[in-house]
Amino acid sequence: LILLGAPGAGKGTQAEKICQKNNIPTISTGNILREALKSGTEMGLKAKSYMESGQLVPDEILIGIIQDRLAQEDCKNGFILDGFPRTIPQAEALDKMVKIDKVIDLEVSDEAIIARMSGRRVCEKCGATYHLLYKKPKAEGVCDICGGTLIQRKDDHPDTVKARLEVYHKETEPLIAHYKKQGVVKRVDGQEEVADTTRLTLAALEA
Ligand code: AMP
Repeated sequence: LILLGAPGAGKGTQAEKICQKNNIPTISTGNILREALKSGTEMGLKAKSYMESGQLVPDEILIGIIQDRLAQEDCKNGFILDGFPRTIPQAEALDKMVKIDKVIDLEVSDEAIIARMSGRRVCEKCGATYHLLYKKPKAEGVCDICGGTLIQRKDDHPDTVKARLEVYHKETEPLIAHYKKQGVVKRVDGQEEVADTTRLTLAALEA
């Protein structure tokens, strides 16, 4: 299953819910890259400047990451992709690796995304996400799960969000047509409350 949608459309949040219900892993390429960056690997260093300016990391790096990850044991009964593919070459490479059953296209307007992302916070230790309005941590600035410090990602700053939306419209939106040709796309209105979006997403998966 692929979750498609602009940055901030709620792919990560919906992936968590689907994951709990179906017992399959979520693969977030953004999280994999952030981990690599934190542990200072060569891949992390290569990705850093792209990520911080809201640009896409080169396709060959991402295709390599996904190839390695999908080969792992826990993916054998299925998986959810959050943040991959993001370009036509990535989608074409993925088509050669696996058969995609469904693509959820989570639609949210650019205005709503800009408003949402300014309130987003993430745990610097475990990567759990929060929101100052919609998903507050129990104690301000502290992760409920691991006690880590909550920070605003550099790429969630307003100017970077605008750059990321431009990249999304140019590079990633064409994937909707790519997967429509395969007859696997379900459109979900992601503009509503999280619980409503989850209900719509689960219904789209069962349809
Ligand atoms: P995300 O958390 O999915 O928004 O990803 C954060 C950043 O990681 C993106 O803005 C890109 O710089 C990079 N990234 C994540 N996934 C991909 C991908 N599939 N292709 C290229 N860059 C990616």
